[in-house]
Amino acid sequence: KAEVADYIHQASLETEIERLSTEKEKTGVFTGAYCINRLNGERVPILTADYVLHTYGTGVVMGVPAHDARDFVFAKKYGLPIRVVVAPPDWDGGDLEDAYLAEGTQVNSGEFDGLSSSEGLQKIADHIEAQGWGERKVNYRMRDWLVSRQRYWGTPIPIIYCPECGEVPVPDDELPVVLPEDAEFLPTGESPLALHEGFVNVPCPDCGRPSKRETDTMDTFVDSSWYFLRYASAGFQDGPFDPEAIKKWNPVDQYTGGVEHAVMHLLYARFFTKALRDLGLIDFDEPFVRLFNQGTIIYQHQKMSKSRGNVIAPDDYVNEVGADVVRSYLMFLGPWEAGGDWSDSGINGVARWANRVWEVANRDSSELDHSPVNENSVRDVQRALHKTIKKVSDDMDSFKFNTAIASLMELTNTLTQAWERSDLTSDAWNEAVSNLVAMMAPITPYLSEELWEATGHESSVHTQSWPEWDESLAADETITLVVQVNGRLRDRIEVPVGIEEDTAKETALSSPKIQPHIQGKDVSKVIYVPGRLVNIVAG
Ligand SMILES: [Zn+2]
Repeated sequence: KAEVADYIHQASLETEIERLSTEKEKTGVFTGAYCINRLNGERVPILTADYVLHTYGTGVVMGVPAHDARDFVFAKKYGLPIRVVVAPPDWDGGDLEDAYLAEGTQVNSGEFDGLSSSEGLQKIADHIEAQGWGERKVNYRMRDWLVSRQRYWGTPIPIIYCPECGEVPVPDDELPVVLPEDAEFLPTGESPLALHEGFVNVPCPDCGRPSKRETDTMDTFVDSSWYFLRYASAGFQDGPFDPEAIKKWNPVDQYTGGVEHAVMHLLYARFFTKALRDLGLIDFDEPFVRLFNQGTIIYQHQKMSKSRGNVIAPDDYVNEVGADVVRSYLMFLGPWEAGGDWSDSGINGVARWANRVWEVANRDSSELDHSPVNENSVRDVQRALHKTIKKVSDDMDSFKFNTAIASLMELTNTLTQAWERSDLTSDAWNEAVSNLVAMMAPITPYLSEELWEATGHESSVHTQSWPEWDESLAADETITLVVQVNGRLRDRIEVPVGIEEDTAKETALSSPKIQPHIQGKDVSKVIYVPGRLVNIVAG
């Protein structure tokens, strides 16, 4: 008994986190007592152990060493029997090397043998309830959340402390409590609100006696846990959010953030959503439909850190090349989910692109009407434009910003070259330039707005609808090539106009209709007659 008391004292000196950790060595001591497992009538030894918490369930748990990682380690250490009751699919009846946690088939379970473990769980629970030995219970691993912070920036906690009435809530018609704009920020360790006489000293809402306002503010997670509901109707005055606007805009289609959001914000926001759903205020279960984690921007192949001295301050670059270029470069320097390595030459390349777009959009297109038009050139620019609209639209939808920008750069080059040839109609030029500027609007909002005006448009580029592509205009023009093997016609293939000789030959050789005719043979020669045929000599 003394040993048990001593052990309990030792364990009480550890924190719950230490005790719950799967890393830490589990300890325990046999109490000398047994209980009877009603399901099979067997005696079960009772031990006291440091990894069992009184806050979890009743504080007394049934050890299941074969199917719980901590129980397994504990049982090994103290030589307790490890009885398999859920058999892994390939189990040979021998000892387990580790706790088996997945689904399996029940064994050593009397009348419940042979059931799948999930079915068995329900059947055993049914049995226990039918016998009146106990009932099902959901265990929430929830703790209280201390939401007050000693900070200015946060939502004020609407409570007033009256010397007579105690804690009095601010009346509804005085909500929300608004932060004063003239607070002084002094290094006192207290919220600046506590030093603001006008904010702190208020009459008691109930009795009018001089009282003090609460000066702590709420953790910003309290706000971010439901701001996506308020955003749908930020001007709504009759409640936290307009139910009609929620129906239209929520749940949020796309959530993006760093991986660190995976735990805190998503957990809180989902919890609030489920609580509001249970209250009948919203009718969806999850606040965010899709999650996309962006990668990290590194520098000189290392994570940026002040101690390494390799921190890039965006403000310096914004001053030098503008916010549009910095933003475009961040989108361009790598796949969005992977991040990338910041380089000065990289951002300069993007700055040059922005300058080229500026030049292109400021050309006087009427000059083109004085020179001869080449219809093929017009068609080429049109095709390039529609291909780009298609590519950028698809890329934007799937967060492939780097390849979207690469396509826009290509289109810019196509236009620069066309201007030098001076063989387009002004209409074809204007159409391509306007769409280029419109597609750039989400990437370079300031530049695009300027150029939208410079290209003769009146309303804002940001109120335009997204450009649409025409599949037939985006399509490559094709020709039919005849493919012969040893002079006999074997196939006809569709290829783009102007296909390169090597590509034409490869396409012909890999055609499914040609394969059987050359399989196992030596291809000694492939002859290409441009625009007409490919002849394969094989023997
Ligand atoms: Zn009072």
